[in-house]
Amino acid sequence: MGSRNKSCQHKDVFERMNFLYQASRLMVLKNRSVASYYGNNMIGCAKKAVLRIEPDLKRTMCKRCQTPLIPGETARVRLTSKPVKCVKWTCLTCTNAKRFPTKKGYKLWLDQPEAVIEMLDYTPQSKKNTQKSDAQEKVANIDEEAKE
Ligand SMILES: [Zn+2]
Repeated sequence: MGSRNKSCQHKDVFERMNFLYQASRLMVLKNRSVASYYGNNMIGCAKKAVLRIEPDLKRTMCKRCQTPLIPGETARVRLTSKPVKCVKWTCLTCTNAKRFPTKKGYKLWLDQPEAVIEMLDYTPQSKKNTQKSDAQEKVANIDEEAKE
């Protein structure tokens, strides 16, 4: 219960960024300029509050036009070997290309266990109970299967 009461700084901004990211993803196949607008707005929120965007999310947005990159739809993804082995993402909206080197054994800082200092749990109490009962039902099913 202790971590639940702790407040996350800029939680409202994070929620807004989450909404804008999802809206941008949904709109990209219908109207790219609207998707780009939402993406731009999301980056603007992050910049204003000085918040970092998760690398996995950040890499799915074009750095130049902020359109969500969906392989095969709005982006071309290719493996290149020169000058170094990397994954090349080309935005099909603005033709901006970005390379991500693939070094064996390399981990982003956020993927390393020592990067996690504290986990805040914001799952509503009602949802937690339903999840638990689902898990219990599954266990019960497994027990029944085992008996048969
Ligand atoms: Zn672009």
